[in-house]
Amino acid sequence: MRKLELHWKILIGMVLGIVFGFAMTQISGGKDFVSDWIQPLGTIFVKLLKLIAIPLILASLIKGISDLKDISKFKNIGLRTIGIYMGTTVVAIVLGLLLVNILQPGDGISTETIDKLTTTYASDSGVTSKLEEATRQKSAGPLKFLEDMVPDNAIAAMSNNRLMLQVIFFTIFMGISLLLIGEKRAKPLKDFFDSLNDVVLKMVDLIMLVAPYAVFALLANVVVSSGDPELLVALLKYAGVVVLGLSLMIVFYCILVKVFTGKNPLWFLKEISPAQLLAFSTSSSAATLPVTMERVEEHIGVDKEVSSFVLPVGATINMDGTSLYQGVAAVFIAQALAFDLPLSGQLTIILTALLASIGTAAVPGAGMVMLVIVLESVGFPADKLAIGLALIFAVDRPLDMFRTVVNITGDATVSMLVAKSVGKLGKPRVKEWDDHLDEVK
Ligand code: ASP
Repeated sequence: MRKLELHWKILIGMVLGIVFGFAMTQISGGKDFVSDWIQPLGTIFVKLLKLIAIPLILASLIKGISDLKDISKFKNIGLRTIGIYMGTTVVAIVLGLLLVNILQPGDGISTETIDKLTTTYASDSGVTSKLEEATRQKSAGPLKFLEDMVPDNAIAAMSNNRLMLQVIFFTIFMGISLLLIGEKRAKPLKDFFDSLNDVVLKMVDLIMLVAPYAVFALLANVVVSSGDPELLVALLKYAGVVVLGLSLMIVFYCILVKVFTGKNPLWFLKEISPAQLLAFSTSSSAATLPVTMERVEEHIGVDKEVSSFVLPVGATINMDGTSLYQGVAAVFIAQALAFDLPLSGQLTIILTALLASIGTAAVPGAGMVMLVIVLESVGFPADKLAIGLALIFAVDRPLDMFRTVVNITGDATVSMLVAKSVGKLGKPRVKEWDDHLDEVK
């Protein structure tokens, strides 16, 4: 396996995991075997990635800002990033709405299928927990997200991966203050964070050594815990529309990369592929973040000044795949349940899905929680929400895998565009996990 490139190793791990998962569903006790003996490896891997996310954001963002040496440049990067993120998200939602209106996946769903899906999933804990979570999020006021971004306790913020935006806020605040005390006095702290940054990136390299085995475990577990195959087939057209839209988004990113950076899109996809494969296997942009950062900086050549801000912010607020899915899912549910959704309703979806993508957590299944809020914004009856979610629940996990790939590819693309626009797109400088092994032997 030594000579194979990382993405091939991961891909082989994934395929074997799927095959193994299917084999286990055929054997009695196979499911339990996978969840008792195989799944823990995947869970440990995801935990390791999450473990280093906060130290990585802290170290790399402080290094990024202090390397900038000029605060006005940071403002430039910040404004461009937010602007382009919103732009790509609107493209994603509009594309999703166009496809679902043209292809009408909800019209062919029979009443029996709807009944079957409703009885199977409407009171499933997966659906009810999402409805409860949505009610909690919805009761917040319009500026709540700004309020939530500011921590009142730095240590508490760093102790919770869901509070990534708070950590980003604190780190930017600290980075700017570090710039303002002058180079000489900032040096000790800057050196500390520079070194921490190198250490954390080395940790990413080490964790990635087990990635091919971990994705085997993750995918075997996805296969054994997936729903009734008959119900999956009934939703094939809907799933097909989502996947088609997501694939077109990847094409859209390739065009952006070519037009705005002049780089070969296939090269871009190849270099970013290990992060995409992990996004697919973990369904979590947050867990994938350390790998996305490593690929974008070392293998694509985006300077840390840009990537250290654009990527963590993107992982939390930019979810093009999720917003496309929300557009398609909302209209699909309306079509299947014969709920009238005029053009004005669809325009509302664009706005709420844009806001929902900012508010969606970067963890598996979060997109479905925000879908509830999108549905409510168009006046979807509250008593039918559980039925609506039940309709799409069976295919949610596989679609989550695909949309997370698009989410992180969008972040990587925007980091290239922003870097190019401020002259910070350089040459790749790949580091291997064993670069300094001779020195420490
Ligand atoms: N799992 C997605 C992510 O982490 C969010 C979602 O669409 O559920 O990017």
